Amino acid sequence: MTNNSNIMISLRDINKTYPGAVPLHVLKDINLEIEKGELVSIMGASGSGKSTLLNILGILDNYDTGEYILNGVLVKNLSENRAAELRNRLIGFVFQSFNLINYKNAIENVALPLFYQGVSRRKRNKMAMEQLDRMGLADRAHHLPGEMSGGQKQRVAIARAIITNPSIILADEPTGALDSKTSHDVMNTFRELNNEGMTILIVTHDPGVGEQTNRIIRISDGMIVPDKKIVSAPLAVPENESLIVPGFADSGLVIPETPRIDV
Ligand code: ADP
Ligand code: MG
Repeated sequence: MTNNSNIMISLRDINKTYPGAVPLHVLKDINLEIEKGELVSIMGASGSGKSTLLNILGILDNYDTGEYILNGVLVKNLSENRAAELRNRLIGFVFQSFNLINYKNAIENVALPLFYQGVSRRKRNKMAMEQLDRMGLADRAHHLPGEMSGGQKQRVAIARAIITNPSIILADEPTGALDSKTSHDVMNTFRELNNEGMTILIVTHDPGVGEQTNRIIRISDGMIVPDKKIVSAPLAVPENESLIVPGFADSGLVIPETPRIDV
């Protein structure tokens, strides 16, 4: 099925409750749209539901009510086989803890998704080497994860995520285990991939990471926090010069600064 829409992800009134002695209503009426080619972050405090949301987006977990459409495909009540097929075809995952296989070298780790697609060893190793090369890791190709720095490991994980040419990358706290310089390098890698057209969604609690994306979606206690609304006609206000009107600080309203008029 071809899909000409420019929407990559569409969530309508998604709810999710973890059952238990005390059921936990963890996602509440989530509505969200992400376009193809976006570089988006989802930010929120620990426990706000970010990973739950990302797991649903990645077809790793189910939701209770609502509707999730990924690249034109309704993701609902899927068999495990169908879920795996969609995951493998559409999604590349990046995790905080890299999730590399410790006894396999960088090439073998990057090539693994191609193994599951039945690509020949010769071809998958060639493709893996090309990905590592563009990540600046050609000289690490035959090293084990234990012989690499955190930033190198995460770039290997990113190479693995993109080797099947997925429609979207989903990353859960991808810089959570990295120092700030290395974190910046990894964000630059994501930005470069996004410049080439890849849709990327990054879950983070780090404002510095959020700032390096093009849109920040905030989640609080399982709910999406509405974007701040700009009121009054925009009169060529330079960026970063809007001000929060005293007394409206909590209303979410941002009033553009009154333009100065020289007389
Ligand atoms: P975040 O990634 O924003 O830290 P999570 O989505 O991991 O938040 O968790 C949201 C809430 O759901 C937390 O209170 C967490 O303890 C709870 N939770 C997460 N996974 C499960 C689960 N499998 N079963 C029950 N509760 C869970
Ligand atoms: Mg989490």
